[in-house]
Amino acid sequence: MSNDHGIEQAIALVTGASRGIGRAIAGQLVEHGYRVFGTATSATGADAISERLGAGQGLVMDVTESSSVAHCIERIQEQAGVPVVLVNNAGITRDQLLLRQRDEDWQAVIDANLTGVMRVTRAVLKGMLKARFGRLIHISSVVGSTGNPGQTNYAAAKAGLEGFSRSLALEVASRNITSNVVAPGFIATDMTDSLSEQQKESLMANIPANRLGQPEDVAACVAFLAGAEAGYVTGQTLHVNGGMYLT
Ligand code: NAP
Repeated sequence: MSNDHGIEQAIALVTGASRGIGRAIAGQLVEHGYRVFGTATSATGADAISERLGAGQGLVMDVTESSSVAHCIERIQEQAGVPVVLVNNAGITRDQLLLRQRDEDWQAVIDANLTGVMRVTRAVLKGMLKARFGRLIHISSVVGSTGNPGQTNYAAAKAGLEGFSRSLALEVASRNITSNVVAPGFIATDMTDSLSEQQKESLMANIPANRLGQPEDVAACVAFLAGAEAGYVTGQTLHVNGGMYLT
């Protein structure tokens, strides 16, 4: 199947495709005709992705390890070629009020959510520059704009991601490469499952759409930004939050 860029077998890479939002993104990109590679942190997770992805494949990648990132990108390039769509979706939370936050929880969240994005993007960018085409899409969070008590580490990483994306957009625009952020509100995944009923109720009171978002709501916006129609959209943040935060 071809995709709407007219590139034979356009390759997309989605980090953190084993669950939640990344899984939905990988699925929608397959439907749009991409050959999708999706990553998990374990071999079991990678195998499960392979079973779902048809012509694509699941691979192990830890975005906090430069060697793991390099190895994974090399495998994709050897097997299939240069990814022209990169979705930086992998992320973690380690919530704690700042006074009680340990250095390692700060560092882990910055490393996975921000430095990890830099590592993976840098590793695929050379190929995109050579191809003179690319779509970089980074999954941030509404919390990067609004802040959230207990999430200073996560909010700092996600806000940083937006500055990263805008700067990169300016560096690569002339090569037909776009860099955009998708900022979900509260989406029903493992990440939000851990919230207490009380937390969920108070969240819901602030969502005019009166429901948590579904991973597919986010995936549809990612598929749009990856597509040919979005070629003139760059350096932007697309909020997907049911109205809980308006820009
Ligand atoms: P999730 O269900 O917890 O899944 C996280 C994914 O990231 C998994 O595939 C996980 O792989 C992968 N991952 C974790 N640490 C990694 C690492 N060091 N290296 C590579 N991959 C790693 O999360 P989600 O809710 O779908 O969230 C996806 C993205 O959306 C995140 O960036 C998150 O911050 C953002 N987001 C989520 C929400 C929400 O409400 N859910 C809201 C705003 C933004 P394993 O399965 O192998 O652990």
